[in-house]
Amino acid sequence: MELVNGRYQIQGIDLESLAQEYGTPLYVYDAKKIEEQINTLKDAFSGLKLKIKYACKSLTNISILKLMKKYGVEIDAVSIQEVNMALKAGFKPGEILYTPNCVSFEEIQEAINIGVMINIDNISILEQFGHEYHDTIPVCIRLNPHIMAGGNKKISTGHVDSKFGISIFQMRHLLRVIQTYNINVIGLHMHSGSDILDAEVFIRSAEIFFDAAQEFKQLEFIDFGSGFKVAYRDGDVTTDIKQLGEKLGASFKEFCKDYGKKLEIWFEPGKFLVSESGYFLVKTNVIKTTPATVFVGVDSGLNHLIRPMMYDSYHDIVNISHTEGINRIYTVVGYICETDTFGTDRKLTEVSEGDILVIKNAGAYCFSMSSNYNSRLRPAEVLIYNGEPKLIRKKETFEDILKNQVEVDF
Ligand SMILES: *Cc1c(COP(=O)(O)O)cnc(C)c1O
Repeated sequence: MELVNGRYQIQGIDLESLAQEYGTPLYVYDAKKIEEQINTLKDAFSGLKLKIKYACKSLTNISILKLMKKYGVEIDAVSIQEVNMALKAGFKPGEILYTPNCVSFEEIQEAINIGVMINIDNISILEQFGHEYHDTIPVCIRLNPHIMAGGNKKISTGHVDSKFGISIFQMRHLLRVIQTYNINVIGLHMHSGSDILDAEVFIRSAEIFFDAAQEFKQLEFIDFGSGFKVAYRDGDVTTDIKQLGEKLGASFKEFCKDYGKKLEIWFEPGKFLVSESGYFLVKTNVIKTTPATVFVGVDSGLNHLIRPMMYDSYHDIVNISHTEGINRIYTVVGYICETDTFGTDRKLTEVSEGDILVIKNAGAYCFSMSSNYNSRLRPAEVLIYNGEPKLIRKKETFEDILKNQVEVDF
């Protein structure tokens, strides 16, 4: 968003007016930012056969999926429901990678029957798969290179205690299973976790991978997962995509030469594509002064945006109703009946009751992790595309909450 004549806007659309038109709380997404992120990634790997598989768990709205399709991005799904959502959005089965963890073999078979590419991440399922399909269905294998990465233990997946992937130390066993069942492995995958800071982590994982990859003779792609870090506040260090493109691109080309074939390089960004595109608009209900703090109580809470409470993540907050004047220190909290703090000791331009605040970086893992806790309704979502706001989800109604409940009379 940008400040123009004292008003915050996105693609020329006034944000506070959107709050008035659609009501608060409200999620707003900027399609232009999503397109920019895609182009940054495409440019960084322009010399290679690149495929971007959007990790749609980060923001699963069907119109966002259709937007990704328009921009030439494919899908990484982690549940059969996400697979079905992607199909509904118009993706072909061949454009969807299904990367489940600890799901039933029946769900994997359902995905195979649909025709999506399966990413297998444990030896037990791989054995069942081999027994059932042998070499008739190509698969991708998720390896865990045990590179410690990620900003928070909950979002790190590469460490040795992690439940994800087949350990690189189980390589002998893995190959034994593959050979015994004659399994057709066409892809190798890794995803070390979210918020990886520097290109070196990728390079180190890549080197482990390239060694391992020589054991597989029918590879068509290598999938480096995701974990690109984006800026949550001014001055944040972020993954340097350009540098990553140069370094990883060079070692990938070298590997392809050794391997004797030009493989595709895949990534599965979620946060990188959508985090910064999202803005969460909330209204100030109450200013409450206690002996210790001035609280700003807003019309939302951890039911709509749980990242600060769950991951201790920092989300910038801006008062868009008053953009000039003195700054004061506030702690911004939600209306849920337990502690739900969006931000502690934040400097905001003086807040009055009724003011609209914007919580930034609200694109990834915000709406998609929302709930009806406290029997609250989930908010509407608006996408700004080509300078026009488009409603892509209506606000829930009381009937939505009751819909699947069964009333028993006593
Ligand atoms: C969650 C997830 C991603 C996306 O991670 P981000 O940090 O949002 O980019 C990619 N791949 C897999 C397998 C995931 O589970």
